[in-house]
Amino acid sequence: MSKNSSEPAAFNKADAIPSTMRAAVYRGKNDVHVETISVPEIGTGEVLVRIHTCGICGTDLKKIHTGSHDAPRVFGHEMSGTIVRVGEGVSGFAVGDRVMAYHHIPCGECFYCKRGQDNLCEDLLFNNGAYAEYIRIPGRIVRQNMLVIPEHVSFQDAAMVEPLACVLRDALLPLLWIDAWLGSSFTWRGNEMRPREVTQQS
Ligand SMILES: [Zn+2]
Ligand SMILES: [Zn+2]
Repeated sequence: MSKNSSEPAAFNKADAIPSTMRAAVYRGKNDVHVETISVPEIGTGEVLVRIHTCGICGTDLKKIHTGSHDAPRVFGHEMSGTIVRVGEGVSGFAVGDRVMAYHHIPCGECFYCKRGQDNLCEDLLFNNGAYAEYIRIPGRIVRQNMLVIPEHVSFQDAAMVEPLACVLRDALLPLLWIDAWLGSSFTWRGNEMRPREVTQQS
């Protein structure tokens, strides 16, 4: 898909960031309202992104329809947008960068992460809140799971990166089952399948 010509011009440092914004606030089972809430504050290592596009994930609909989560909160994670504020200590990103950030990230340090089973991480960090005009991106995601969107990729296409990664992973899962049956020579790291390190048996 080509870049959408209706996309707004790049964010200018002189553009004012308001103190409040509109957001779709979840207030309980089947109860979501567009409300005016505060624009998130950011801390060291974090960035503030002005949302351009956010997909509606089936998991969000499930959470809303079942009332499975505490309220109030703002869902939304299949997002893309423009960095409008950069916290102290952030490197590699600047105001005006078009970015997409992933939904969650493992800690990389717990028992499971160290065994390459980061899908079982005991300290998964989630990034929600993109059904709003602005979102705070946590530091761990800024450092490891946020991407600058290439010039030729539209915000809409970039917002599809996370759902597409889920589709690809599910499409490859049957291969993993076969692999496990044959003796397991591959392992998962995030959304990548890599050869497992083989230890020599004496
Ligand atoms: Zn999703
Ligand atoms: Zn972990």
